[in-house]
Amino acid sequence: MAAIGAKGLFTIARKYPFGNFLFFLTISFFLLTTFCHAATAKKKEGIYHTVNKGVTLYRISQAYKIPLAKLMEANRLSSPSAVKVGQKLFIPGAKAVLPVEPYIPLSPLEKRKLEESLDAGDPPVPLTPGSESGKEPKDSEKPPWLGKELDIIWPIQGKITSPFGPRGKRFHGGIDIRSPSYQEVKAAMDGEVILARHTSTGYGKVIFLRHDQGFLTLYGHLNVIMAKEGDAVRQGQPIGGVGSTGRSTGPHLHFEVRLNGRPLNPLPLLPPTIEELLEKKTQK
Ligand SMILES: [Zn+2]
Repeated sequence: MAAIGAKGLFTIARKYPFGNFLFFLTISFFLLTTFCHAATAKKKEGIYHTVNKGVTLYRISQAYKIPLAKLMEANRLSSPSAVKVGQKLFIPGAKAVLPVEPYIPLSPLEKRKLEESLDAGDPPVPLTPGSESGKEPKDSEKPPWLGKELDIIWPIQGKITSPFGPRGKRFHGGIDIRSPSYQEVKAAMDGEVILARHTSTGYGKVIFLRHDQGFLTLYGHLNVIMAKEGDAVRQGQPIGGVGSTGRSTGPHLHFEVRLNGRPLNPLPLLPPTIEELLEKKTQK
């Protein structure tokens, strides 16, 4: 082999001036090391975060401002709930270890109040703050998400059978989406489960998710609850099944978005439906 190698080298050296060959070899070596270095540097960009007691994957994603799905992918996690105390998680793109607030469950009193709010029929939050007083709101008073696209998805696809707004003497704080029983209900945003139980309210089996910027989402009349209190949930993750529990005339999902405790019309926040997109296309 050595003889062939030497013979080969001799042929190359005779064919090309030896200086050129050395130059070629040096350049190749340089390119190869640069490429390898860049590849390893790209792979290593990030830090390791050790999971402390009470800390959920959702809380970590919030602290580092990384979507839950990206964090799950980087750590090959199949479920956002599958993290253990002491586990080292890779945080892609992070430069320093940041403090992460633990998940604190609601107190029994807070849970009761949240349940009671279901039947309270609270008036909605105005979409533009200040519109109640009739004055134009200051920029500092506007919520940070206003006018921006909120990262929210439809929990299920279906016809809206009851819109957000006054309904008789009460206020319907969400939208009703018709769907067959057991249809998977998906989390509208990354978040954490703060209440998941069969209530004695008109909404039967409910799930409350807490999100960032003061948002809560509520999923009512479920027949199955697949997420438990304290769980971190990824946007699009199935959390329950459509049902007809509570006061309901047929299987449907009551979907509610709350901002700082008050219901908000979800329709302007949600992406357009397939029907709306098709309608727009035919209008053009
Ligand atoms: Zn409803």
